[in-house]
Amino acid sequence: MRLEERYDVEKVRNLSAEAVYRRVEEFLDSNPAFCRCEECVLDLVAYMLNRVTPEYATSLLDPLHPSREKVMKKAVELDLALEAGTKRIQKHPHHEGTGERNVIS
Ligand SMILES: [Zn+2]
Repeated sequence: MRLEERYDVEKVRNLSAEAVYRRVEEFLDSNPAFCRCEECVLDLVAYMLNRVTPEYATSLLDPLHPSREKVMKKAVELDLALEAGTKRIQKHPHHEGTGERNVIS
Protein backbone atom coordinates (compact mmCIF):
# COMPACT_ATOMS: atom_id res chain seq x y z
CA MET A 1 0.00 0.00 0.00
CA ARG A 2 1.02 3.54 -0.52
CA LEU A 3 1.40 5.34 2.77
CA GLU A 4 -0.14 8.58 1.52
CA GLU A 5 -3.27 6.77 0.32
CA ARG A 6 -3.89 5.22 3.71
CA TYR A 7 -2.78 8.08 5.95
CA ASP A 8 -3.27 11.81 5.78
CA VAL A 9 0.40 12.73 5.41
CA GLU A 10 -0.61 16.38 5.01
CA LYS A 11 -1.06 16.41 8.77
CA VAL A 12 2.71 16.16 9.16
CA ARG A 13 3.80 19.78 8.95
CA ASN A 14 7.22 21.36 8.91
CA LEU A 15 6.99 24.21 11.39
CA SER A 16 10.24 25.62 9.98
CA ALA A 17 8.57 26.01 6.58
CA GLU A 18 5.90 28.21 8.10
CA ALA A 19 8.60 30.29 9.82
CA VAL A 20 10.33 30.67 6.42
CA TYR A 21 7.10 31.88 4.76
CA ARG A 22 6.50 34.47 7.49
CA ARG A 23 10.14 35.67 7.28
CA VAL A 24 9.92 36.02 3.48
CA GLU A 25 6.64 37.98 3.83
CA GLU A 26 8.31 40.40 6.22
CA PHE A 27 11.30 40.72 3.92
CA LEU A 28 9.14 41.48 0.86
CA ASP A 29 7.11 44.05 2.82
CA SER A 30 10.23 45.99 3.71
CA ASN A 31 12.36 45.44 0.57
CA PRO A 32 10.52 46.77 -2.48
CA ALA A 33 13.63 46.37 -4.67
CA PHE A 34 13.58 42.56 -4.52
CA CYS A 35 11.92 41.00 -7.60
CA ARG A 36 8.33 39.84 -6.92
CA CYS A 37 8.11 37.32 -9.75
CA GLU A 38 7.19 33.77 -8.78
CA GLU A 39 10.59 32.39 -9.81
CA CYS A 40 12.56 34.72 -7.56
CA VAL A 41 10.24 34.46 -4.55
CA LEU A 42 9.93 30.66 -4.73
CA ASP A 43 13.69 30.33 -5.34
CA LEU A 44 14.23 32.30 -2.14
CA VAL A 45 11.78 30.06 -0.26
CA ALA A 46 13.48 26.88 -1.59
CA TYR A 47 16.93 28.22 -0.77
CA MET A 48 15.90 28.98 2.81
CA LEU A 49 14.06 25.66 3.26
CA ASN A 50 17.28 23.84 2.33
CA ARG A 51 19.15 25.68 5.08
CA VAL A 52 16.86 26.01 8.04
CA THR A 53 16.72 22.91 10.28
CA PRO A 54 13.39 21.19 9.66
CA GLU A 55 10.98 20.76 12.55
CA TYR A 56 8.25 18.29 11.70
CA ALA A 57 5.21 17.90 13.90
CA THR A 58 1.84 16.18 13.63
CA SER A 59 -0.05 18.40 16.00
CA LEU A 60 -1.77 21.55 14.79
CA LEU A 61 -0.69 23.16 18.03
CA ASP A 62 2.66 24.83 18.31
CA PRO A 63 5.06 23.03 20.62
CA LEU A 64 4.59 24.20 24.18
CA HIS A 65 7.24 26.48 25.60
CA PRO A 66 10.06 26.15 23.09
CA SER A 67 13.26 27.05 24.91
CA ARG A 68 14.67 30.53 24.50
CA GLU A 69 17.78 28.95 23.05
CA LYS A 70 15.75 27.13 20.39
CA VAL A 71 13.84 30.27 19.45
CA MET A 72 17.09 32.23 19.10
CA LYS A 73 18.77 29.49 17.06
CA LYS A 74 15.84 29.41 14.63
CA ALA A 75 15.87 33.20 14.27
CA VAL A 76 19.61 33.17 13.47
CA GLU A 77 19.18 30.38 10.90
CA LEU A 78 16.34 32.29 9.23
CA ASP A 79 18.36 35.52 9.07
CA LEU A 80 21.47 33.82 7.67
CA ALA A 81 19.46 31.89 5.07
CA LEU A 82 17.56 35.03 4.05
CA GLU A 83 20.70 37.10 3.66
CA ALA A 84 22.58 34.48 1.63
CA GLY A 85 19.51 33.58 -0.44
CA THR A 86 18.61 37.14 -1.44
CA LYS A 87 22.21 37.85 -2.45
CA ARG A 88 22.44 34.73 -4.57
CA ILE A 89 19.06 35.16 -6.29
CA GLN A 90 19.65 38.83 -7.06
CA LYS A 91 23.01 37.93 -8.56
CA HIS A 92 21.75 34.91 -10.54
CA PRO A 93 17.99 35.25 -11.10
CA HIS A 94 16.21 32.46 -12.99
CA HIS A 95 13.45 34.72 -14.28
CA GLU A 96 14.91 35.05 -17.74
CA GLY A 97 13.30 31.73 -18.60
CA THR A 98 15.89 29.02 -19.23
CA GLY A 99 13.12 26.41 -18.89
CA GLU A 100 15.36 24.42 -16.59
CA ARG A 101 14.27 23.16 -13.24
CA ASN A 102 15.63 25.38 -10.52
CA VAL A 103 17.52 23.44 -7.89
CA ILE A 104 18.42 25.95 -5.26
CA SER A 105 20.80 24.30 -2.89
ZN1 LIG B 1 12.29 37.60 -10.73
